[in-house]
Amino acid sequence: MKKILFASSETHPLIKTGGLADVAGSLPIALTNLGQDVRVIMPNYQGIKNCEPGRYLCTVRVNNCDVNLLETHLPGSNVAVWLVDYPPFFNHPGNPYTDENGNPWPDIGDRFALFCRIVTEVAMDRAYLNWKPDVVHCNDWQTGLVPALLSLEVAKPATVFTIHNMAYQGVFPANTYTLLNLPGQLWHHDGLEYHGMLSFIKGGLSYSDWITTVSPTYAHEIQTPEFGYGLEGLLAHRQHTLSGIINGIDTNVWNPETDQQIVQTYNRDTLNKKVKNKTALQKRLSLPIAPDQPLLGLIGRLVDQKGIDLVLNCLKEMTTLPLQFALLGSGDKSIQVRLQDFARLYPDKISITIGYDEKLAHQIEAGSDMFLMPSRFEPCGLNQMYSQRYGTLPIVRKTGGLADTVVDALPETIKNGTASGLVFKDATPGALLETIKRGMVLHANRPLWEQLQRNAMNKDFSWENSANHYLALYREI
Ligand code: ADP
Repeated sequence: MKKILFASSETHPLIKTGGLADVAGSLPIALTNLGQDVRVIMPNYQGIKNCEPGRYLCTVRVNNCDVNLLETHLPGSNVAVWLVDYPPFFNHPGNPYTDENGNPWPDIGDRFALFCRIVTEVAMDRAYLNWKPDVVHCNDWQTGLVPALLSLEVAKPATVFTIHNMAYQGVFPANTYTLLNLPGQLWHHDGLEYHGMLSFIKGGLSYSDWITTVSPTYAHEIQTPEFGYGLEGLLAHRQHTLSGIINGIDTNVWNPETDQQIVQTYNRDTLNKKVKNKTALQKRLSLPIAPDQPLLGLIGRLVDQKGIDLVLNCLKEMTTLPLQFALLGSGDKSIQVRLQDFARLYPDKISITIGYDEKLAHQIEAGSDMFLMPSRFEPCGLNQMYSQRYGTLPIVRKTGGLADTVVDALPETIKNGTASGLVFKDATPGALLETIKRGMVLHANRPLWEQLQRNAMNKDFSWENSANHYLALYREI
């Protein structure tokens, strides 16, 4: 049995801004179910909800601050969550990174530096908890100083640093280093210094025993200038201690057999029932009821990363094909306006819903025939996995986690039973459109389409699968 301290700036359902919270709320439970002893550690934000109130454990003094540790649990489990309680830093409205108006916290460096110091004390069993981890698993830049600080210790636990998105690095002006009172030994090119600035993520990348990211393909991509944001050299240097492990999905929430948010449940043996979800969706979105016409869905943040511009550039031609398109998302205002303009011009072809709506997300996953995900980059991605579980074949760009979780329908993959979607390479509207047409041809062949749906629905995207990979890594290091 391994003792694992899992450090994260957010944890679902306590507090969430993105995919990191899903990982921090699921992986520790999956590892516990595999017999491991896991504790989660995170800041005690004002906005924390959905858990029992924290019970006082102890007080630790670091850098002239007296910090309390409180204990709660991940709901529905016995996984302990240690809350780092320092009200001047964390007892504020807003989210972990911004205030209620979306402005970044001006002292965010101080906050997460303090958090990292406490994680280090707990990791070295200097917090009177009588528990020393074998492995400290750190996540994203907010925990980047932990492997760096631990590197100065004797008999330190092993460290893993997971990158959820390279686009966020925690870079601060040089004087922050002095203000944070960080040890001088760590300030150099191979340490925390990054072009004369302080980089939190470099602590994780330079000092951890192993680096992971959330898909094998993204692990390769971040070693290139396009995806490495200036750290590709360091990552390439660490290629032998860098690997990708795909995130799992919540297979209870995303299960077409039991989903209470959809009008008709179904499974791989009752695929004929799926069409009821399609007609219900068409009705809800005021699209013509057309059971046989391919319905393409898309759910996501409307930002550059997601390749929405490719879709926008295809929409005109898509309206000339016998298909419908249903999108749910929010984000970039100009993208929203352009999409809504199309929906107004072609109300019997295109439906655009701006907003965040979990129920409609389930209904689109269940009611669509195909799901578009033409991302420019995608560290892991969840929707393509949900889609496959719902027998809604994803059309994805060959990048990051999309490349690793969707098998393109080609003659040989159809023959060997692995084909589970459609994949295209070039980030061009033409390539996307060709692939949509290829999907329509396959869709017209009912027995073949159902075979592809079953291939997709048979795949294992459970957290147990991912947790086994992490456990193998913990044992190796
Ligand atoms: P990312 O984390 O980059 O936003 P993912 O595909 O990994 O992309 O995960 C996005 C998650 O958020 C999915 O669960 C998706 O269904 C959900 N989501 C995104 N936008 C919306 C929306 N407008 N309404 C409902 N759910 C959404």
